[in-house]
Amino acid sequence: MTSEFARDFDSDFDCDLLVVGLGPVGDVLAALAQNHGLSVIAIERAPTPFPLPRAAVFDHEIMRIFQMIGVAEKIAPLCRAPERYQFHTACGQVLLDFENARVGPFGWAETYALHQPAVEEVLRARLYELGVRVQTGVAFERLAQDRDGVTVDVTDNGSPRQIRARYVVGCDGSWSPVREALGIKLDDYNFDEPWLVLDTIIDEPGDLPIVCQQICDPKRPVTHMAMSGKRFRWEFMIKPGETAEEMLDDARIRELLAPWNCADRIQIERKAVYRFHALVAETWRDGRVLLAGDAAHQMPPFAGQGMCSGIRDAANLAWKIAAVVRGEADDAVLDTYQEEREPHVRAIIGTAIAMGQIVCMLDETAAAERNRNMLARKSSGAQDVSVLYPDLAGGHLTDTAFAGALFPQPVTDEGERLDSLFGLDAVLISRSATDTTDLGVRRFSLDAPEIRKFAEPIGDWLTKAGADAVLIRPDRHVFGTGEAEALLGAWTERTRRKIAA
Ligand SMILES: Cc1cc2nc3c(=O)[nH]c(=O)nc-3n(C[C@H](O)[C@H](O)[C@H](O)COP(=O)(O)OP(=O)(O)OC[C@H]3O[C@@H](n4cnc5c(N)ncnc54)[C@H](O)[C@@H]3O)c2cc1C
Repeated sequence: MTSEFARDFDSDFDCDLLVVGLGPVGDVLAALAQNHGLSVIAIERAPTPFPLPRAAVFDHEIMRIFQMIGVAEKIAPLCRAPERYQFHTACGQVLLDFENARVGPFGWAETYALHQPAVEEVLRARLYELGVRVQTGVAFERLAQDRDGVTVDVTDNGSPRQIRARYVVGCDGSWSPVREALGIKLDDYNFDEPWLVLDTIIDEPGDLPIVCQQICDPKRPVTHMAMSGKRFRWEFMIKPGETAEEMLDDARIRELLAPWNCADRIQIERKAVYRFHALVAETWRDGRVLLAGDAAHQMPPFAGQGMCSGIRDAANLAWKIAAVVRGEADDAVLDTYQEEREPHVRAIIGTAIAMGQIVCMLDETAAAERNRNMLARKSSGAQDVSVLYPDLAGGHLTDTAFAGALFPQPVTDEGERLDSLFGLDAVLISRSATDTTDLGVRRFSLDAPEIRKFAEPIGDWLTKAGADAVLIRPDRHVFGTGEAEALLGAWTERTRRKIAA
């Protein structure tokens, strides 16, 4: 636990935070909140983690969050860092080519291909190590809120009981019983494409391409992903007139895989039909109850960002709930969660849908025109293949340069990463020393011995911002840049505004 927070626990409550649902988002939220010093109960309806993969890739921001909870070094060896993500025409011309840096600006490879159950196993084990009270076979049923907390009815391995918490977060997936209980509606983008998803193991991949690619063939759009180890995924678009049942038939699957020349070596781990869609919950907070991950938003998988977005929710929310429970922030700070996260998620949904529209084009004439246009833009150098998602805006941020951006994480030649100095605290880094004592912000001057090895990239970043100092939030987003004392003042004022009033 990095926080020095300690208090007598009020026996009217079973926990500060009840996390409902232990998919990847609930796992990360529970771990972060416990690390921030909260008392956390996490309930999960299923007795064991979901054994089959869904997410195929995640990005460097997410590995950085895994680093915050102390599991990045365990997860990295379980993953493969693909060098590219490509969109191809039916005859193999490259329409879009996203290059993934080996070490991106946040201190990790830009993209990782994963086997989701293996990663979830590490996350779940970490919860036990951290002392989160994990309760499996326990299903959320309903809740009632009052001024001080939330009483949740659960079914615990068949028997009813109650859990009393100060705050509840529904990380309970796309069907979210918590969202249902609150009567929160979904905003539907009306993107709705059915795809067959095949997860396979191939001991001898032979000449099977070890790549992540979309094959934009109007006859049958296909996704092919070399995941980690011997695992490969194919996704086949289901065309109008085809049924899920016929696509799941083994003979049909063999036909679909025939062009890949691997049918004799393939072990199918899972076959399932998914409808790829885009939905956003209209509100992510109702009093002391919040939603995160698929409970709050869902998107088609073409940008590989559904789980990533949920894990970003967890990182955004954990320190805010902790600050409120510790009495360091008014609970109005929780309103900044949706304010900051929703526009970010909607921007990514826009990207995922745009990618999906490129891939899912079934009209041969339109697809030929798409190919001509994209190839022309690519060869003229006019194509933009940066996948930078927007900075956070509004919310718990100042309006100074780079506020809302993720602060970079430089890595030394020896492999030391900047965040390893910070724990989960907010951090002020300034060119000159500052003596102000203030709540919960660790202060470093650029010439402090521990930070000196990172002084050059941080100094360059401060120069770009035209600032003497930067205040970085616990989720590693920049709160503001400028002069040290002014930033500390703004942090205190923003956090405490309502408490003081
Ligand atoms: C084919 C496919 C490909 C994808 N590819 C990617 C990708 O490449 N990259 C990416 O980032 N994302 C991807 N995604 C999305 C990603 O899988 C999801 O966004 C992510 O798994 C959601 O995590 P979550 O923790 O919010 O929800 P879930 O993983 O669904 O977890 C919710 C948990 O809540 C539990 N629960 C439900 N009801 C209750 C209850 N009443 N009481 C207690 N517990 C309950 C469930 O049992 C479950 O364990 C993909 C999805 C699909 C389908």
